[in-house]
Amino acid sequence: MTKPQGIAVLGATGSVGCNTLDVIARHPERYRVVALTAHRQLDKLFEQALRFRPDYLVAADASAASDLRARLTDAGLRAEVLHGADALVQVASLPEVDAVMAAIVGAAGLPSALAAARAGKRILLANKESLVVAGRLFMDAVRASGSALLPVDSEHSAIFQSLPADYAANPDAAGVSKIILTASGGPFRGRPAADLLHVTPDDACRHPNWSMGRKISVDSATLMNKGLEVIEARWLFNVPPSRIEVAVHPQSVIHSMVQYRDGSVMAQLGSPDMRTPIACALAWPERIDAGVEPMDFFALSDLTFEKPDLERFPCLQLAFDALEMGGDAPAVLNAANEVAVAAFLEGQLRFVDIPRVVSAALAGVSCAASDSLEGLLARDQEARRFAEGRVAAC
Ligand code: NAD
Ligand code: MG
Repeated sequence: MTKPQGIAVLGATGSVGCNTLDVIARHPERYRVVALTAHRQLDKLFEQALRFRPDYLVAADASAASDLRARLTDAGLRAEVLHGADALVQVASLPEVDAVMAAIVGAAGLPSALAAARAGKRILLANKESLVVAGRLFMDAVRASGSALLPVDSEHSAIFQSLPADYAANPDAAGVSKIILTASGGPFRGRPAADLLHVTPDDACRHPNWSMGRKISVDSATLMNKGLEVIEARWLFNVPPSRIEVAVHPQSVIHSMVQYRDGSVMAQLGSPDMRTPIACALAWPERIDAGVEPMDFFALSDLTFEKPDLERFPCLQLAFDALEMGGDAPAVLNAANEVAVAAFLEGQLRFVDIPRVVSAALAGVSCAASDSLEGLLARDQEARRFAEGRVAAC
């Protein structure tokens, strides 16, 4: 029997993290959890530690780590408990880790995902913000180390599965004419613009098809999530923005499509359950059980498609603009969006002001290209400060 693969789950207590552990638990002979990390939900991390018995745990700070250490000792469990951002980088690079699930939310997930790429790990990438902030640097690191980069975002998993198995980052050589990213349209699809003035964080987080963390749920409601995914697709598949199209498909059955030169369109379909793309990334090129209900085609209603409304949801256009601007513009877009979304979730900013803050940051912060992680993180901080100023002025 072959040795189980060592897995580090970064962001284990989140929506993707929990779904990942659900899939892993179905295959104890294939996977061994080496490390689990979390920011705030220590109780959940502790329960996960009892169940999966990792060698390493990472908490946010020293006091959380010492709490956790004491609880583990009481429970008779031994694990190395670390804390802070450096510890995330450390566990992503451990020799006994074969694959890293990068499922931290936001630019906070970049340094550890990049460390996994530099260390040549198999990267299961849920943290789309890594590619938005540092697309070129990240892809260069993947190429230099020869790591395998497997998308977990459902749309990118769909595209990955719809491309030829030997796709070598060259759309023309593969006969690809277009990538079509599908979008559910979020909870406010079809709502009149005037309604959007008064929507609350809970309204925004009530996604029609997917159950996700609060930040990505708000991004889905503004369509910024689709914008971030356009940027993610540009880097993952080396396709120019002019050949990436977004189609609103409210049923979320088709997870994305690839159109070929000869008129063929390859699509990937499935229930809206993240365990499918997670299992696909974990086991690729094999297919493993993910606990997902098989699709019942006879229970499906019509599959419909519409163009996104960029006037009511300007964030999608802002993401295309940032790609066009190039340099650090996507990093600025992302940082300003994180600040604006956090302020909206805390009741300090209206929903409709999110794109205004992002647009102001793209105009007001230098977008000259940084060529190092440190440079990008400094740009991220600069854009955050700018956006915080804008939020305060709204
Ligand atoms: P979530 O909010 O449910 O979980 C985030 C995880 O990251 C938690 O474990 C949290 O403890 C950790 N975390 C948060 N801030 C941190 C910090 N500063 N340092 C270290 N750890 C931190 O988020 P999610 O919905 O699971 O999304 C995770 C990532 O996956 C995001 O980048 C999101 O865009 C992407 N994604 C999510 C889904 C989904 O279905 N939820 C689908 C596609 C892509
Ligand atoms: Mg997605």
